[in-house]
Amino acid sequence: MKRKTVLITGSSRGIGAEIARHFAENGYNVVINYFQSKDKAMALLEEITQKGANAIAVYADIRQEKDVQNLFDTATKTFGHIDVLVNNAGIALTKLVFDCTTEEFDNLFFTNIKGNFMMTRLVVPQMLSNGGGKIINISSIWGQTGGAMEALYSSTKGAIISFTKALAKEYALSNITVNTIAPGVIDTDMIRSVHTDEEVEMVKEFIPMNKIAHPKEVATMALFLASDKANYITGQVLGVNGGMYI
Ligand code: NAP
Repeated sequence: MKRKTVLITGSSRGIGAEIARHFAENGYNVVINYFQSKDKAMALLEEITQKGANAIAVYADIRQEKDVQNLFDTATKTFGHIDVLVNNAGIALTKLVFDCTTEEFDNLFFTNIKGNFMMTRLVVPQMLSNGGGKIINISSIWGQTGGAMEALYSSTKGAIISFTKALAKEYALSNITVNTIAPGVIDTDMIRSVHTDEEVEMVKEFIPMNKIAHPKEVATMALFLASDKANYITGQVLGVNGGMYI
């Protein structure tokens, strides 16, 4: 059977890297994308290709149109076409709103939503001519509920949810499903770089399951949404949050 291809933005580390591992283990051709963490991306590439996966790692700053175009072109040239797009690249910002600068606003929106739009705009026509595809956008629990001191980050993640719902309607008749995963608290650099171990322990008190998640919890959801088992699921926001928001 012909291998399917997945492209995961921001997959040098964290949730994106774990999604890459899961898709590689399940027989997909994998396009890893890195921005600043080239070494980590190359180590991941080595790890999954040694286990038999077909994979490439491509530099792209998701905020830059020419980089996004090159990422798409390189993936297409290497593997023919993209069957699954995971828009995962993202950055966070924890600040009171009156301390946020317009440069920080642009940086968050360009990374978290403009990159998603530019990537999707390229992939959709290809999916249409190939008879379908799956788009999975990574939002956040804060896009659903709003997070104090994370107004800008929450706004970008809310935008991802609206973008997903609109696209799902636009392409429902074209066999392209579009869904969002809204993770709760996942154990990656994004959390560890802003919170001490004590703070992470305190966060657990707000999670009914009383634990933060390994990135594999998000990766298995992505793999499910990409599979034929999820063919009738579109426009949905799937919470992976241990009951933190129900
Ligand atoms: P992370 O560990 O900080 O990793 C972020 C990834 O995004 C890295 O691979 C990074 O690449 C990439 N990235 C950042 N800016 C980029 C750019 N301009 N162009 C291309 N790639 C870029 O974060 P994470 O926790 O895995 O988060 C992944 C996604 O899940 C994000 O969208 C985040 O908002 C969302 N999320 C995370 C949590 C959580 O608790 N961790 C919760 C809810 C939602 P380089 O290192 O190569 O620059």
